[in-house]
Amino acid sequence: MSDSAPPLDRFQDRSTAGKPLPKRGILDIHAYVPGKAKAEGFAEPIKMSANENPLGSSEKAQEAYATAERSLHVYPDPRATIVRQAIAERYRIEPERLIFGCGSDEVFALLNQTFLEPGDNMVQGEYGFAAFAIGAYACQAEVRRAKEPNFRIDVDELLACVDDRTRLIFLANPGNPTGTWIPFSEVRRLHDALPPSVVLVLDGAYGEFCRDASFDDGIDLARNSSNVVVTHTFSKLHGLAALRIGWGYAPLEIAQAVDRIRLPFNTSVAAQRAAVAALGDEAFQEASLELMDVWRPWLTQQISGLGLDVIGPSAANFVLVGFPKRPGKTAAEAEAFLSSRGLLVRQLGNYGLPDHLRMTVGLEAHNRALVDALAGFMGD
Ligand SMILES: *Cc1c(COP(=O)(O)O)cnc(C)c1O
Repeated sequence: MSDSAPPLDRFQDRSTAGKPLPKRGILDIHAYVPGKAKAEGFAEPIKMSANENPLGSSEKAQEAYATAERSLHVYPDPRATIVRQAIAERYRIEPERLIFGCGSDEVFALLNQTFLEPGDNMVQGEYGFAAFAIGAYACQAEVRRAKEPNFRIDVDELLACVDDRTRLIFLANPGNPTGTWIPFSEVRRLHDALPPSVVLVLDGAYGEFCRDASFDDGIDLARNSSNVVVTHTFSKLHGLAALRIGWGYAPLEIAQAVDRIRLPFNTSVAAQRAAVAALGDEAFQEASLELMDVWRPWLTQQISGLGLDVIGPSAANFVLVGFPKRPGKTAAEAEAFLSSRGLLVRQLGNYGLPDHLRMTVGLEAHNRALVDALAGFMGD
């Protein structure tokens, strides 16, 4: 499936329109819809709509963040050297091959800008993360969406979308909003079949949450390839979503090309310091993963027990839940019902999944409140 180009006439007369008109394609982009943060009548709703870390963030990261208060007048290090060194050591990779961004979202945007020109295309799964496509459209490129049968990336469907104008493939493993993942043998098969001119971006935003021993985020593949980029974020496992810092591990030539267009001060002093401290706080990371080990299967089992369709198994920090189309029991009605009880979950109409809701695994009390409310909704 591919999106057709917008009608020409809207753009024919940009010089004579009598007002500034955005370039072709901009007005066809659907702006990113973030997870809801407010529920009427609740000062502090339970937010399970944005895959944030319910444990908050590492205290060591918070302390490091606080030290930045004395440096607010100083531009940050444009190379993010302290984070670069810390990640290079932790993952045993070459520091000069790292790209830092204002969240990994910015790394995706930079890759799109570096590789896509009008007429080129980017390939992703049909439920691919919205930020991938927004950046591609902004480059006036085509976005090709490969079918995801059973909510799972299908390598053959991806490959069927590739042609000689394909410059990038984005693959989040595990995926958002599906939570499913594909084994590394499939990632390798995809890479082997791609023309060497196509960049394969492996988004590992949820990779840490996949506890299967066979899972591989692709760092080793990237190490020895000229066309693989692996991205990670501090927003999820490390709980630093507010600070906006993520990174990509790319072939040196790609990292250097991206650096030509990257804004120099795109990660802040506070973000850099907190990220280094978070990376070093393994106890916090372990606690976050243990929470997942207990409550992800519990939520899956409880919600399935209500007769709802939990997609998966999820390997991320959320579950995707399918609702009946029956009036009174739909996903939209469930979302409103939960919101009226102070529970925020994610609607997915803009992902083409109007019958599904995505729910972030929370603390014990959150998860129990969610299941109780869903039981009330289904039982009514
Ligand atoms: C949350 C998320 C990210 C991380 O985004 P940041 O910009 O680093 O906060 C990346 N990819 C996917 C699929 C996500 O859901």
